[in-house]
Amino acid sequence: MNPKAGALWSEIMQQADYQLVIVGGGPAGLTAGLYSARGRLKTLLLEKGATGGQVLVTDWVDNYPAFPDGITGFDLMDKMTAHADRFGLEKRFATVAALDLRDEIKTISLENGDTITSQAVILCTGAKPRAIHVPGEEELRGKGVSYCATCDGPFYRNQEIAVVGGGNTAIQEAIHLTKFASKVTVIHRRNELRATKILQEKAFAEEKIHFLWDAEVDEIVGGKNGVESLRISHKDGTTSTLAVTGIFILIGVVPSNEILPMDQLEADSAGFIVTDTEMCTGLPGVYAAGDIRSKRSRQIINAAGEGATAEQSAEHYLGQLTTTIKK
Ligand code: NAP
Repeated sequence: MNPKAGALWSEIMQQADYQLVIVGGGPAGLTAGLYSARGRLKTLLLEKGATGGQVLVTDWVDNYPAFPDGITGFDLMDKMTAHADRFGLEKRFATVAALDLRDEIKTISLENGDTITSQAVILCTGAKPRAIHVPGEEELRGKGVSYCATCDGPFYRNQEIAVVGGGNTAIQEAIHLTKFASKVTVIHRRNELRATKILQEKAFAEEKIHFLWDAEVDEIVGGKNGVESLRISHKDGTTSTLAVTGIFILIGVVPSNEILPMDQLEADSAGFIVTDTEMCTGLPGVYAAGDIRSKRSRQIINAAGEGATAEQSAEHYLGQLTTTIKK
């Protein structure tokens, strides 16, 4: 290769398709996208399903500021998407297969074989429901075993069902399920709830909700129509059987990190990505925001705030770069 062509080639190699690629379109990704599009960065948001993330399947959001009467998860995410769209955020619905984040130009490989390059990346891949890993759970998934009350609640009209968990999700969704089920038994491994007091008060006042304290599900038993009963062990050493047609497992989340290059990123023992308070990972130009981050509080408002912070950090970083983007 002659030296002139070599110089041109190396210049092209230094050019990225985008200034910023956001992976994941939940509240963190959409807020980062809103800021970035409004800031006129050349940005792409990649989302494998519909924008909105886990909130899409949340029945009711009661604590997002500026909605004093509450709002459905679907409507809130619809508004967040519309807000980013108003500033022209470019979105692509595609599944990311792999990322290489080490160099100044980051490479994002899609499942369809396409490759996208970017100067900065914000990881907003979120989290997904945790399983209890007992016999019957996998086999009966979709046949009475559910991780989403909003999605599956209406199937259990006038039926007796169970909810596993004692956090905000379990209690909020147990309350929601009383709209359909004739009886909702909350099975919790301790004798006090982790959920916030206002939800506890509502649940204790709801006569369709019953509590099984200090209890764990050992097995989900099915028949030809799906779930029929649960084998339960109690802290006092006894066991029992609870007849239900549905079980909603709502015991927290695990990180959606399958596509992330975990050998390049620092993560906690559960696999959530570690960042500093500015959402910077240890890699220059790489940020994480929302439920994929290692942190205590997983609220929609936190995710949105972290998305904004991550975008501001990315913007600051991009201002120092000498590489360019393709026209
Ligand atoms: P969470 O707060 O981590 O609660 C998980 C619950 O499941 C806990 O009660 C825990 O029991 C129980 N659990 C965990 N592993 C278990 C296992 N293997 N077997 C049986 N039980 C198990 O999770 P979350 O309720 O999904 O909430 C996740 C985050 O979203 C939290 O930050 C929460 O505040 C937030 N959120 C907020 C709202 C809201 O503000 N309205 C609504 C939903 C979620 P222990 O208590 O014994 O640990």
